[in-house]
Amino acid sequence: MSLMPTVRIVGDGNFIDPWCDRWIPELGVATPKPNTSPDSLLKVSDFIEPATRTWDRVKLNQHFDQSSIERIVKIPLSVSPSSDRRAWDLTRDGKFTTKSAYHGLRGIRDDPTSKVWKKIWRTKIPYRVQVFIWRCAKNALPTRDNLSLRVQLPSILCPFCQTSPETIMHVLITCPISSRIWFQSRLNMRTVAFLGKPIMDWFRFCLGEAPFLYSQEKDESFPLVACLMWSIWLSRNNMIHNAKTDSPFLIIN
Ligand SMILES: [Zn+2]
Repeated sequence: MSLMPTVRIVGDGNFIDPWCDRWIPELGVATPKPNTSPDSLLKVSDFIEPATRTWDRVKLNQHFDQSSIERIVKIPLSVSPSSDRRAWDLTRDGKFTTKSAYHGLRGIRDDPTSKVWKKIWRTKIPYRVQVFIWRCAKNALPTRDNLSLRVQLPSILCPFCQTSPETIMHVLITCPISSRIWFQSRLNMRTVAFLGKPIMDWFRFCLGEAPFLYSQEKDESFPLVACLMWSIWLSRNNMIHNAKTDSPFLIIN
């Protein structure tokens, strides 16, 4: 992650994750306020006052540590909000493209021709979900396991089952709660084979890439796989931060 270039905000920050993207000059990712747990649903846009186009200091104070805040408030914001997707000033003409986000945010070390990436970008799903899936594949979601690499956490165990570290694979696929959802869904998937495996294995399987078998059915069901992963993530965050529990039935739908 340290090889990622610093990312400047020139747009509305809708697609920048404060805890996983490098968006603060010198620091990169933000550090949560001591003794709080980072809210994974927050985007950088949540800290910008839409009316005045300035940093919302009250909100910054609720979530970030002092040294992060000092640097965040120095980041210039454009007077008028730029188009939604123009959150990173990475291409020469200043236009945001998914490709520039892909190269800029995650580094260019990955083979851009990789079939998995291509398939993810080609999938017809809402843009927000696509960004989310791409973050999953890049292991760039603020799970406890990832956050613990940067901040001190009381526990990295999954807050729901308390049996395994909260990795992306665990929270979205193999946690008993999620596992039940996959099985009960129209996909009728058993996820036990993915216990302890990296999340890329899951994507290779769902997209029919080697060493897994390809079938047209897999291509057709991937949008549903993606949306279910997204719903599980939203519901997990709702449970943690709003103490709201969605029934598996609601998540599947
Ligand atoms: Zn769990």
